Amino acid sequence: MEMSSKLLERAVAEISQLPGIGKRTALRLALHLLKQPVDQTQLLAGALLKMREEIQFCKKCHNISDVEICEICANGTRDQSIICVVEDIRDVMAIENTNLFKGIYHVLGGKISPMDGVGPSQLNITTLVEKVRTGIVKELIFALSSTMEGDTTNFYIYKQIKDQNIITSAIARGIAVGDELEFADEVTLGRSILHRVPFESSMKNH
Ligand SMILES: [Zn+2]
Repeated sequence: MEMSSKLLERAVAEISQLPGIGKRTALRLALHLLKQPVDQTQLLAGALLKMREEIQFCKKCHNISDVEICEICANGTRDQSIICVVEDIRDVMAIENTNLFKGIYHVLGGKISPMDGVGPSQLNITTLVEKVRTGIVKELIFALSSTMEGDTTNFYIYKQIKDQNIITSAIARGIAVGDELEFADEVTLGRSILHRVPFESSMKNH
């Protein structure tokens, strides 16, 4: 794309690095910012930079947080003995939106996927197993998407904690196989948490 300004060209090149944003959209966004007062761009740039530099991952559950321990883990009314295991932060947001889960979370940061070169050591699995071994956990709910990678990950974790005296369950498969958790509507998702099934029987149905 030929532009009369190298500054604009550079801004467009940076914006178009974002997922789902092509060069055309990037140009549209950049031109939009040029029409706005300069402080609008300062606010945007400032918010992005501050988020990127200061955001933390909760020491307990790996959820995003502005402080060391996230709001959910720090909330005394949440049941610390029930842990919902999810793939990523968007799943925490989706389940929180249902308002039906009162336990805490554990964010794995992905799922085991040999095809994509993701092995168990790249995920937050050790901290989960350690947490279970402390004895404070009564139930682990697997809420990963029902894909082959999700099942593999669930089973990998299950093998490591099955000698512990805790309940393991999986969210009910009201969600079609292959659906990603974050896209499930809130009612279905809420229901699938309430109607969770023992983990072992969820494996047999597969
Ligand atoms: Zn947390």
